[in-house]
Amino acid sequence: MSSSSETADVVICGGAAIGSSVAYHLAADPGFNGRVIVIEKDPTYRYSASALSAASIRQQFSSPVNIRISLFGIDFLRNIGNHLAVDGEAPAIDLHEGGYLYVASPDGSHILEQNQKLQQEEGADIAIYAADMLRSKFAWLNTADLACGTYGVSGEGWFDGWAVLQAFRRKARALGVEYRQGEVARYVTDGGRLVGVELADGSRIACGAAVNASGTHGARLAATAGIAIPVKSMKRYVFSFTCKGEVENCPLLIDTSGAYCRPEGKRGNEGQMFICGASPPAELDREWIETDADVEDVDWSFFEEHVWAPLAHRVPAFEAIKPGRAWAGPYDMNELDGNAILGPAVGLPNLYLANGFSGHGLQQSPAVGRGLAEHILHGRYRTLDLADLGHERIVARRPLTEANII
Ligand SMILES: Cc1cc2nc3c(=O)[nH]c(=O)nc-3n(C[C@H](O)[C@H](O)[C@H](O)COP(=O)(O)OP(=O)(O)OC[C@H]3O[C@@H](n4cnc5c(N)ncnc54)[C@H](O)[C@@H]3O)c2cc1C
Repeated sequence: MSSSSETADVVICGGAAIGSSVAYHLAADPGFNGRVIVIEKDPTYRYSASALSAASIRQQFSSPVNIRISLFGIDFLRNIGNHLAVDGEAPAIDLHEGGYLYVASPDGSHILEQNQKLQQEEGADIAIYAADMLRSKFAWLNTADLACGTYGVSGEGWFDGWAVLQAFRRKARALGVEYRQGEVARYVTDGGRLVGVELADGSRIACGAAVNASGTHGARLAATAGIAIPVKSMKRYVFSFTCKGEVENCPLLIDTSGAYCRPEGKRGNEGQMFICGASPPAELDREWIETDADVEDVDWSFFEEHVWAPLAHRVPAFEAIKPGRAWAGPYDMNELDGNAILGPAVGLPNLYLANGFSGHGLQQSPAVGRGLAEHILHGRYRTLDLADLGHERIVARRPLTEANII
């Protein structure tokens, strides 16, 4: 790097939930007083997954590391004021611990049983109910074709994702992190080390380490340093509707079809609003294009066939609904195993990856930020070991497959 370029200890490329969580956790480390610069190409976050997500948190994963990440995540969200208050003002994130309810047919029940056992062993508060128990707990649920369901008694629910992103950012800035509008064009390397980043305007920042927190742009950006990650940007819809019928205490329900729904806000005169969606079958899967038009380009026939139809089968009250607004957003899908890719890049150890969250990155942002900050500052994970999600498994093509992708 030329001697005239600026210098930072850490440059974070992308300043949404993940980048801002890393920034906060770095700045909050008592032993660190270095310079952290976050480069964010769009401070309105208009196309960031963090701003377009369904903002829900669950413990019901199938791998220990994801469960541990979520256990820390819920604790962080419950106590967010202890972490992210600025001038005594705690962020209002509207956390509702309404639970997740996964339901299974007789064919799929062994998977839920296996997952629930693991989740409980890890300390997650997940109960398993046979069909008759499901019926008595959730009177509005059609259990005719179900064998069982797993329910998050506590520790699962939904929150204001936008508020969490802003809270990380605000606190990071209050602790001295510099946010700058700009687009990172490429990483600059020299002799097997990352030495800095180059922005689209040609300016450079020399740094000791960089964090690749650029969401669905992560694969392209990592490739500028010769680092390959199997992450694609896929389009996902969120639909809303209002239902007049009573669906009391509805958790985030995940049907056997893969369609999900959860309440949003309080019941009003028109009924209860819900948001919902589903992962599309391969033939309908589309790449995300970052434009206003693509945010608004929503396929209502997908809603009818793949979301509403299965949900109305599962919850007969949903046969009569009033569709509301809908939007699309980007999933940074890890095509190898549907899990995050975290930590030092193989072959370029001072480039830290935070990519491939595959639809569960917002809830992982507290633990991922803490873990990467520890690794950057102390050379290892000190609290929760995130090594299972390392880049090594990608290079070795050794998937850590997550069974519960929504
Ligand atoms: C429809 C939908 C529903 C979801 N539901 C949930 C959910 O219920 N629970 C959950 O936990 N997760 C959910 N997710 C996933 C979650 O939103 C993401 O995993 C998470 O927000 C990823 O955060 P991020 O900071 O890595 O990426 P993003 O939020 O995408 O942020 C990346 C940032 O990098 C910036 N950037 C990109 N390239 C550059 C560059 N070259 N230079 C500078 N800046 C750059 C972008 O402008 C952006 O602000 C959902 C996602 C979608 C789309």
